[in-house]
Amino acid sequence: MRDCLFCKIINGEIPSEKVYEDDEILAFKDINPKAPVHILIIPKKHISSAMEIKENDESLIGKIFTVIAKIAKEQKLDNGYRIINNCGEDGGQEVMHLHFHLLGGKKLSIDI
Ligand code: 5GP
Ligand code: ZN
Repeated sequence: MRDCLFCKIINGEIPSEKVYEDDEILAFKDINPKAPVHILIIPKKHISSAMEIKENDESLIGKIFTVIAKIAKEQKLDNGYRIINNCGEDGGQEVMHLHFHLLGGKKLSIDI
């Protein structure tokens, strides 16, 4: 996707601090961290939001969650963490490429 910020991060046009990468998934540090650990996990395939997930994406979405668990372990978030997906305008989504926030490293309040 030509004008998508996260597609540009995937193709290296915009630099990022990567923490995980495989052929289908990329994880990188959020530029404006809301917690000691704040990582974004995204599919390399451009899916604009959780509203656009299709049946043939089910294994990819499942894999994202095993990757999140792996990253959380590496980041030593053994006491717990939060996974957030903001979906669409009312959900507060700002970047229209599906992403999951992994937040942790402190006791999180309800509004992060
Ligand atoms: P959303 O509000 O769409 O759920 O979250 C978008 C997230 O992307 C925000 O937490 C924001 O800080 C992060 N973000 C926006 N632009 C960039 C960028 O250029 N690089 C990185 N690493 N994160 C970004
Ligand atoms: Zn994209």
